[in-house]
This record gives sequence, structure tokens and C-alpha cells, in this order.
Amino acid sequence: MSEMRRVTAINNGTVIDHIPAGGAMNVIQMLGLDGGRSSPISLVMNVPSSKHGRKDIIKVEDRELTQDELDRLALIAPNASVAIIRSYAVAEKREVSLGEELVNIARCTFSNCITVNHREPQDHRLKVVSANPLEVRCRYCGRPQDMDALVENLL
Ligand SMILES: [Zn+2]
Repeated sequence: MSEMRRVTAINNGTVIDHIPAGGAMNVIQMLGLDGGRSSPISLVMNVPSSKHGRKDIIKVEDRELTQDELDRLALIAPNASVAIIRSYAVAEKREVSLGEELVNIARCTFSNCITVNHREPQDHRLKVVSANPLEVRCRYCGRPQDMDALVENLL
């Protein structure tokens, strides 16, 4: 147990659990954790999950993810659970929440949509129609969004 703890525990930072298996790299990209100045990251991939088949886990050292970052995370890991670690203990648990609407998180994927072409700055609003399976529609043109394309359109 102590050996296990030494390998897996972090002193301070964030643990993101219950990422769909294979999704960890997308999460790292989306949160900008792959840049040159970012924190050390530990990845645990493809482990059996009691909840949903297999899962990935990410541990980010010395960085506490903000609620804004977690809301983005909901697009690709809606069932993720997040723990903020301080001095090797869970200090806070945070929920990843899609809510009913994504405001200024991603841009509509249709290039002829008014929100993409409009001259006046306006909010990018995407309505969450269903969380599982995830279905998101543009508030303005009403069209359903392809998730892979939407992840490319993050603001
Ligand atoms: Zn649209």
C-alpha cells in the first residue's frame, strides 16, 4: 500500500478521474497541459472502472483546475470526477458540469452560422439537448454539433 501510494500520490494538484478510456490525450490538449511551461503530469490509461467500463486518470501536479476549465472538460469527459489535492489529501471535490447551455466555450461548427459570420461580437451559445449520449445544438442556427469538430472549435 505504501509503495502504491508513493507511485500514485501527488503532493499538490488536481486528479481527474473517470475520463473515458482513450480520452486522456484529448483532455491534456484541451486544457493546454502539453505546453512547454506546463506542470508535470501522470497518466493512468485504460484501467478498469467500477462505473463505466474502462477509464483514464490524469494527475496534474501543482495546478488546481478552475471551474471554467472543468466546464470545458465536460465536453469530452462528462462523467469525470475531479479532486483538488493539497498536502497529499483531497481538499476539494469538484463536479464537471455541462449545465444546460455552453456559453463562450466553443464556436458553432457550421461556417455559415450567424455566430461565425456576424460582425457584432456576441456570445457563442450552445444548448445541451442531452448529456448521455451527449447532444449539443447551436442556440442560433439550431443545428446539432459534431463532437470531434466542436472540440476543434473551442474558444
Ligand atoms: Zn450555429
